[in-house]
Amino acid sequence: MITDALIHSTRRTVLIVEDEAVNRDLLGIILKGNYDVLYASDGLEALEILETYPGRVAMILLDILMPRMDGIEFLRRRGADEALSRIPVIVLTSDKDAELETLKMGALDFIAKPYDMPEIILARIQRIIEFVEDRQIIQEVERDELTGLYTRGFFFEYSRRLQAAQGGELRDVIAVDVDHFRLVNEVYGKGFGDELLCAVADGIWDELRGGFGIACRGDVDLFYVYLNQREDYEAVYSRLMDRVHALGRQTNVRLRMGVYRGVEADRPLDWYCVAAKAACDTIRGNYARSVVVYDSTMHERELYNERLIADMETAIAEKQFVVYYQPKYDIRGDVPKLYSAEALVRWIHPELGFISPGAFIPLFEENGLISKLDDFVWREAAAQIRDWQDRLGICLPVSVNISRMDFFDTDLKRKLLEIVAENGIPVDSLVLEVTESAYSQNMERMLKTVGELREAGFRIEMDDFGSGYSSLNMLCVMPIDALKIDMKFVRNVVNSGVGYRMVELVVEMARALDVPAVVEGVEDEAQYQMIKRVGCDIIQGYYFSRPVPPEDFEPMMKKDR
Ligand code: C2E
Ligand code: CA
Ligand code: CA
Repeated sequence: MITDALIHSTRRTVLIVEDEAVNRDLLGIILKGNYDVLYASDGLEALEILETYPGRVAMILLDILMPRMDGIEFLRRRGADEALSRIPVIVLTSDKDAELETLKMGALDFIAKPYDMPEIILARIQRIIEFVEDRQIIQEVERDELTGLYTRGFFFEYSRRLQAAQGGELRDVIAVDVDHFRLVNEVYGKGFGDELLCAVADGIWDELRGGFGIACRGDVDLFYVYLNQREDYEAVYSRLMDRVHALGRQTNVRLRMGVYRGVEADRPLDWYCVAAKAACDTIRGNYARSVVVYDSTMHERELYNERLIADMETAIAEKQFVVYYQPKYDIRGDVPKLYSAEALVRWIHPELGFISPGAFIPLFEENGLISKLDDFVWREAAAQIRDWQDRLGICLPVSVNISRMDFFDTDLKRKLLEIVAENGIPVDSLVLEVTESAYSQNMERMLKTVGELREAGFRIEMDDFGSGYSSLNMLCVMPIDALKIDMKFVRNVVNSGVGYRMVELVVEMARALDVPAVVEGVEDEAQYQMIKRVGCDIIQGYYFSRPVPPEDFEPMMKKDR
């Protein structure tokens, strides 16, 4: 750890705001030995400089009488801005009357013109800088109660100074995030959630032993570390995961880690933390990678993601989301027969254009917005079933996706029943696709809810089977009406003997459970023939059709009739 002496020895930047060149230069000469100096010739220019170098200026020396924007107006603007009002101001004056007014507006001290006593001026400036910085640190609660790491406020306050003092040292920032922490809390209980956070914090402490580094809990389940550069982040990650596993429960809790390599002094540390977090977020839902190093494209992606989140509510209200339909064909007979459709959402954004669900579904799953979107899609799909029934006389079942999050809504069954009732369609025409990983993460609740939904008449398809960790044992007790095999198995079915055997096995499982085996992602003739040979019942894939808007779907319905 770095000592206070080192912090106080860093060179600070002082901004001199003064319109008279002679006075400005004189002060500059006095300060130059101890401080970096920036100059502004009036309040407006000072504001511009402060905006250009956020977090850099440690002290402002302010003249009162200036053209364009005077000292009083500058103080007023400073007072209205949270970041600016933290920078101490010393007023340069020869006018006793102005002193009281500026004091009321937040100035801390005065230096009288002319500047004939350099030592006194320097001593005052230094005293005030130290006083203000110490006070800021003291004001921040230092430790996070739960984990014993620093709090976010203290971390940023303190590390800002360490950053200014880092000189030529190579330093990094890392962000560590718990995947789906909200769910972990809900599923395993808050007690376990707390244990988990403490285990991660302890692990981080251990990593910092013996070298330079400081760490905080930046948000509920998000940690930031500012440390000397190292090369072994993958190893750091596995040691953290070892601690998680050592908690002894059979969970698939996962951490994600984002790294910013090479922190410089030009940007505030907060920026580097946001960057490390952005890197960390790019592997949300990507189970193949756990550690990722920031590159500059990621910041743009993060901004893009923030935009999507911010625009979501409006998009629902303005019906920017549209539902596409992809057919599933029954291939048991000689001629493939239209069996049902899957509703898949798309976002036609007025400015960003067509956005596929892969870009926003994982985002909305992370922050809970998904439930609102799902609700919208279910209603659209139900209305579509009704519309086709009315106009074409065909009651085609349509499946919709149910997110994990939806199962935490105790009102789920009532809501779905209300949707089918409002549209006057049979309960079993709105089919529910539930991803396998939802089952394995929360078995008891899933058993109960899925059981109730089936009792109410809904049909349930297990989606993405083979992508998660569900046990065979679970499959036997879980009530389902179809098994939908994950797309990645199809990729290997043609070229690899093992791939072929895998699909065969899944089909056998479906047989044992007495439910149809659905295969999705079938793209070409070769795959189609293979899959048919294995004995699959239902196929969904580009081979038959991509997901399309309802009007393009209708010809497939009419043809089949
Ligand atoms: P999913 O539920 O596994 O949906 C199947 C995805 O595979 C769809 O991607 C579909 O377009 C794609 N697909 C179908 N056939 C083929 C094929 O032959 N080749 C290839 N390469 N892909 C094929 P899409 O529409 O981009 O959706 C991606 C995922 O987004 C879905 O995966 C689902 O998890 C989620 N999603 C889509 N719409 C919704 C929704 O309304 N609510 C929720 N919660 N999730 C949705
Ligand atoms: Ca699906
Ligand atoms: Ca799927």
